[in-house]
Amino acid sequence: SNATPAHKRILLKLSGEALMGDDAFGINRATIERMVEEVVGVTRLGVQVAVVIGGGNIFRGVAGGAVGMDRATADYMGMLATVMNALALADAMDKQGLTARVMSAIAIDQVVEPYVRPKALQYLEEGKVVVFAAGTGNPFFTTDTAAALRGAEIGAEVVLKATKVDGVYTADPNKDPSATRYSKLSFDEAITRNLGIMDATAFALCRDQKLPIRVFSIVKHGALQRVVMGEDEGTLVYA
Ligand code: UDP
Repeated sequence: SNATPAHKRILLKLSGEALMGDDAFGINRATIERMVEEVVGVTRLGVQVAVVIGGGNIFRGVAGGAVGMDRATADYMGMLATVMNALALADAMDKQGLTARVMSAIAIDQVVEPYVRPKALQYLEEGKVVVFAAGTGNPFFTTDTAAALRGAEIGAEVVLKATKVDGVYTADPNKDPSATRYSKLSFDEAITRNLGIMDATAFALCRDQKLPIRVFSIVKHGALQRVVMGEDEGTLVYA
């Protein structure tokens, strides 16, 4: 079709869990390949794609803190976990014909290049997929916050939060069959209704910057493409 995408540049937030598939931990090859296929689909439409990848499938700082580790140390481990995921994701992207560049918020120069904003912007203009690793580079934050931060920095038009559920529901759709999906809602409504869409820091940053968030399912085939085409997919949270 001749329809043009609703977005030129997107920030896609993939959680570590999204890479696990049905495994208990780690990276599931088939799952990652399927996700990359969805990304390939939207780059073919000419959309510039930046990704923030989580690390929860490998390590979560909060959990490390809970078992007696120093919280900041545990969080650095969590950030390093995102670097492993970023390498796996970029590798899968390269294998499917995309050119991916991993940029880390923590210097690990022999492994990945450091995050340099103008360079990230250049890569995006060149049609490369940029994978942001190591979150914000700071303990006590999350990759959701990194998604909001990088999204704002690169001028993404929307933060796309990929989940297993296809949007925000009035109740847990797995427990309550009468639950309905919100097609869209404002930041204020999301707060009033106490809908935990992203962590509070990430949410506040998006709200301040008027950077909309769309929650959608990454496991639903074609959903990312429908989101990019501006269709009623998932839930839009707007300023
Ligand atoms: N983390 C951090 N600062 C950041 C991003 C991540 O300290 O800016 C650590 C934190 O310990 C977190 C872990 O990295 O638990 C993995 O990130 P996250 O939990 O956001 O991953 P996801 O839930 O998306 O898989």
